[in-house]
Amino acid sequence: MARRLPAGRKLNMFHRCPHCDGDCMSSLQKMFTGPAGSVSCRSCGKGVSLRWSHYLAVILPAAIILFGVNRFYPDSLVLVLVGSVLAVLVCIAQLLLPLVKDRI
Ligand SMILES: [Zn+2]
Repeated sequence: MARRLPAGRKLNMFHRCPHCDGDCMSSLQKMFTGPAGSVSCRSCGKGVSLRWSHYLAVILPAAIILFGVNRFYPDSLVLVLVGSVLAVLVCIAQLLLPLVKDRI
């Protein structure tokens, strides 16, 4: 059974801008956005990025797990499988992180 959106709402594939609340960037673009760089909002042109603390909360556990697996299963298929699963999970988690106004 398909989920229905409330009347007047459209399915939006874009993430909201913290400046203008408009369509800021696509999910694919957000997956490759980090806290070190700034991306211009496609609606207002102002810079948005991710917060370092949010980004590290996603990346650090994945890196620790990967280093742990590498220590016990170096050069094995287990390392490749765990790394692949972690990469997918990090991409999904990054989509959930809120965009913030860039300070630059
Ligand atoms: Zn904007």
